[in-house]
Amino acid sequence: MQHLLEDVARCTLCSEQLPLIPKPVIQASSSAKLLIIGQAPGLKVHQTGTPWNDASGDRLRSWLQVTQEQFYDKKHIAIMPMGFCYPGRGKSGDLPPIPKCAPTWHKKLLQQMPDIQLTLLIGQYAQQYYLQDKYTLTQRVQNWRSYLPQFIALPHPSPRNNIWLKKNPWFEQELLPQMRQQIDKILSND
Ligand code: SF4
Repeated sequence: MQHLLEDVARCTLCSEQLPLIPKPVIQASSSAKLLIIGQAPGLKVHQTGTPWNDASGDRLRSWLQVTQEQFYDKKHIAIMPMGFCYPGRGKSGDLPPIPKCAPTWHKKLLQQMPDIQLTLLIGQYAQQYYLQDKYTLTQRVQNWRSYLPQFIALPHPSPRNNIWLKKNPWFEQELLPQMRQQIDKILSND
């Protein structure tokens, strides 16, 4: 795993498309049991080099009910976005993840993480890539049980999604408590 992570850290495959120097932000170890696949680092994450080190990350940790210490413990939790480098900003927020990143790296990393028991697919890009169905994000999140035991589909925890969360109260009332139970079981099962 260490060699692979060094290869990822040196990756410059899309340097011509990226607005800033390539700076892949991931967290992984061969003993990880929970995998989080999100979109791509935002500017703050790019600057600090720490995944989910922003308001979205705060909300994600509250959804999972894990502390910062648990969240950043790579022995248990791996974080592998669809694009490892900051993609830049468009008219309405950050640009989509660079499409060639996941096909280049995900399979190789997954092969080094044989103990992953559950993968959280956060946002439409991760869901389209891994679920390859025709549903909308809301339908996938509503039908979250149908992707178990391998996946749980989640909306992005960005503050920009507050309206979605308000419109779908079942998410916080029903899905989150059950997901937390599963995660608790996975993380406490050493
Ligand atoms: S986005 Fe992915 S493939 Fe592109 S330079 Fe960064 S690590 Fe490499």
